[in-house]
Amino acid sequence: MTPEEHGRWNGTDSPLHETKFCAHCQRQRPIEEFARRRKGGDARQGWCRDCVNATRREAYSRAKGADRDNA
Ligand SMILES: [Zn+2]
Repeated sequence: MTPEEHGRWNGTDSPLHETKFCAHCQRQRPIEEFARRRKGGDARQGWCRDCVNATRREAYSRAKGADRDNA
């Protein structure tokens, strides 16, 4: 057995590679892609940042009028 094999965890996921299932795009995303909630300590939102941003932008443009894009 090499030292490398000896130091390897068996059946334990590394927290560094933690992923979370996005309820919106239905994909497994890195945990970093999920924004932290202000309340609830380490609880994460159910949507990844891409989905949150896309939905927020869509709701914003819809509220302002879909034809208006003055960025
Ligand atoms: Zn998503």
